[in-house]
Amino acid sequence: MLDAVSPLAATSTEAKLYDALIIGAGFAGMYQLHSLRDRLGISAHVLEAGDGVGGTWYWNRYPGARCDSESHSYCYHFSDELVQGWEWSERYPSQPEILRYLNYAADKLDLKRDITFKARVVSASYDEGENLWHVRTEQGGHYAARFLITAVGCLSSANLPKIDGISDFQGKWYHTGEWPHEGVDFSGKRVGVIGTGSTGIQAIPVVAAAAKHLTVFQRTANYSIPARNAPLTDDFKKYVRENFAEIRDVMRSTVNGHPWRIADRSVFDVSDEERDKIFEMAWEKGGLRLRAEFRDVLTNEEANEVVSAFLKKKIGQIVKDPAKAAILADIDHGFATKRPPIDTGYFETYNRDNVALVNLRAEPIERITATGVKTSKGEYPLDIIVFATGFDAMTGPLFNLNIAGRNGLALRDVWREGPRSYLGLQVVGFPNLFTITGPGSPSVLTNMIVSIEHHVEWITRCMQHVVASNAQTIETTQQAQDAWVTHVNAVADMTLFPSCNSWYLGANVPGKPRVFMPLPGFPDYAQRCSDVESNDYRGFELTR
Ligand SMILES: Cc1cc2nc3c(=O)[nH]c(=O)nc-3n(C[C@H](O)[C@H](O)[C@H](O)COP(=O)(O)OP(=O)(O)OC[C@H]3O[C@@H](n4cnc5c(N)ncnc54)[C@H](O)[C@@H]3O)c2cc1C
Repeated sequence: MLDAVSPLAATSTEAKLYDALIIGAGFAGMYQLHSLRDRLGISAHVLEAGDGVGGTWYWNRYPGARCDSESHSYCYHFSDELVQGWEWSERYPSQPEILRYLNYAADKLDLKRDITFKARVVSASYDEGENLWHVRTEQGGHYAARFLITAVGCLSSANLPKIDGISDFQGKWYHTGEWPHEGVDFSGKRVGVIGTGSTGIQAIPVVAAAAKHLTVFQRTANYSIPARNAPLTDDFKKYVRENFAEIRDVMRSTVNGHPWRIADRSVFDVSDEERDKIFEMAWEKGGLRLRAEFRDVLTNEEANEVVSAFLKKKIGQIVKDPAKAAILADIDHGFATKRPPIDTGYFETYNRDNVALVNLRAEPIERITATGVKTSKGEYPLDIIVFATGFDAMTGPLFNLNIAGRNGLALRDVWREGPRSYLGLQVVGFPNLFTITGPGSPSVLTNMIVSIEHHVEWITRCMQHVVASNAQTIETTQQAQDAWVTHVNAVADMTLFPSCNSWYLGANVPGKPRVFMPLPGFPDYAQRCSDVESNDYRGFELTR
């Protein structure tokens, strides 16, 4: 334990005392625990609401739940031993396989002994006199530490829309992000799925195949690219094992953190014929690589329109009923300005006899009744309703912690007009608090493992610096934070991201301020973090 902390144990007799507390046991919290405990050698402990590790992959057990990042890129990269000791079975791993992987990593690193499960944090407040963060859980636990690190994930606070009458519904309803562990039996049932984002697009084909009848309630039509999931060949597995260092370098050097480079050509550098050929090949290959065929898809409106038109045309070619196809292709935003889904048989599902599509733009939901969903045009009888309505992204899980900094300053109040941070890692007024993949960092715009590992490693070195400097606290300055917010906005404005109503902007949650929360561009971001570090943590102040 850190010398500077131990003597304070006497002042916090009822609290369990650690050098560092970490909230959340997903990819981020697990790696942070390993880094602090096994590399830095300080006492660290994790508090986790669930009764197992895994985070996203512990909670999201809905049918069809699967990763959109390719399996060989969606795993810890920091340890060759972990890489060599694990073999993925498919191009895109399913939720059960990722959960198995995270348990494998937790066991290999012997992490579970330093995690308290079923510990939902309900408050975290900084005591300036003691220089300790006091953390309390719903279950009555009280913990204290000099450093507090949030690893609560960007997508862990389920967003349930406020629709009148939900308590009247006599059937069963579920949110995909809090799916029952025992599963749901759809056989012989009339099911309604509300929401056609990434999750809805994964769940709909699987639910349609299992249920007697499925009604999809679509408010926002969406693009989707076939994933072309398949078992991995032995040759590919061998290639990954033998070339992992190179694959890792590629991931860290591209804007989205995926294991391929973005082509250095404009949509308009090639003839219409050649472009179509490129798109067709990318469509056949499947997955998110299509976005990387041209460099200007997310920066040039006309370029984006060309890609968007190609993808809309595909919907018309797959969906046989022209009325359904028109509703599905009536997309109001540019491709990839919202999180781009990939699928297995999504549009094909609308060719099934047991699948109906309701266009909520033409007939909004009025209420949920005892027997189903009532729109402005009619009533849809249902036995089960699935809410695939996403998350109160990025700020939601942080607000749920009720964080209070110096002088009782509440994070919720400080961020009332939208999140403000320095590097997405720290906030003025909250000393020794670090936010992994916080707003103002690339986070959800990347293959997230790349962003998570980068943050964990940066935070670990930063804490080492604080300890080595015999400092008590590290805290960003107002000036650094203001300049960072200006930078994040300027970068976002160079892209098409702010052009639509996405959850990146908080647009899916009524009353949430419209602020673009993540920062596009991983390599430039990582370079800036490096510069800060090598310039004696410029923009941070240490107190001794
Ligand atoms: C359905 C789905 C599919 C996804 N697919 C991809 C993908 O293809 N590629 C990609 O890069 N990313 C994807 N993501 C994003 C995914 O969240 C990240 O890749 C990654 O799992 C985040 O890890 P994390 O540890 O930061 O957060 P999480 O995995 O969200 O873990 C956070 C943990 O914190 C805990 N927690 C939260 N609040 C509290 C509290 N108050 N008290 C105690 N514990 C708390 C939660 O229980 C959870 O276990 C997907 C997300 C979802 C929901």
